Amino acid sequence: MQYPKHVEIIEVGPRDGFQNVKEFIPTQIKLDIINDLIESGIKEMQLTSFVNPKVLPQMADASEVTRTILKSGKKPLRPIALVPNFKGARDAYENGIRTVSFVISASEKHNMANVNCSKEESVDTLRNIISSFYDLDVRLDIATAFACPFEGMTPEDSVHDLVKIANDAGVKEIVICDTIGIANPKHVATLCEKLLTSSTAPLALHIHDTRGLGLVNMLAGLQTGIRRFETAIGGLGGCPFAPGAAGNTATEDAINMFESMGIATGIDLEKYLKAVEVVKQRIKCDLTSRMCYARTYEHEKIKLDVRK
Ligand code: ZN
Repeated sequence: MQYPKHVEIIEVGPRDGFQNVKEFIPTQIKLDIINDLIESGIKEMQLTSFVNPKVLPQMADASEVTRTILKSGKKPLRPIALVPNFKGARDAYENGIRTVSFVISASEKHNMANVNCSKEESVDTLRNIISSFYDLDVRLDIATAFACPFEGMTPEDSVHDLVKIANDAGVKEIVICDTIGIANPKHVATLCEKLLTSSTAPLALHIHDTRGLGLVNMLAGLQTGIRRFETAIGGLGGCPFAPGAAGNTATEDAINMFESMGIATGIDLEKYLKAVEVVKQRIKCDLTSRMCYARTYEHEKIKLDVRK
């Protein structure tokens, strides 16, 4: 098996992760964590999402977070915002964002539950956004690409159809999302292999760790040729349709896997773990990441050795 020399990690913690935390995280804490992440070497990050604050109060400070980070001019960072509709895209654009993730579910019912419109309406909006903002890079997140909590297994054709629509519309990247963390390595490999040959836009994977298969599914994607992965600090995230479920695959676990295989991520794991510490101490939530605990263990061991 030939492995690549490097992969790219897109941090989605401040969006996908934070939006699943019930209690409002003070804006300054969000900013501190985002800055620590940039400091560790994260070069692409979903900073927030421009959504109706009544629907997602956690993201009510989208504008402030975006403006502050853009103003700080920390380089090299490609800031990304998630947008569920045209208004979100316009708000993101007006706040200085030039890369957005637009989301459409492969399953009709999840699209309705997630963004409150039909897939067809979402596709129209996607085309509208691309034609309205000439210098805005639009990525498409295909949610429920493997299975849907309402409709069961997602037919492959539904994903292929969306990929074709996205390519024709001029989407800059397509992100295959296992929204409920139900995929297995074989399913990931089969789907990615086909999509890699059919899609003209580059592909990325967004895997949730609901059933503990996050890393192996990412590995399966890597082995078929995927080079870009979305992950979240601490494994934050989750799914409103699966209370208590684990969130995204943790970025620190992904960094550890890739780097220990000799695949560079460009991220300093030690520095990254400092940001994880901040999340651990200042955000009320259980982290499902392994590296945040492995690190504690190693530190304890070092202390014990010193005592001997
Ligand atoms: Zn996610």
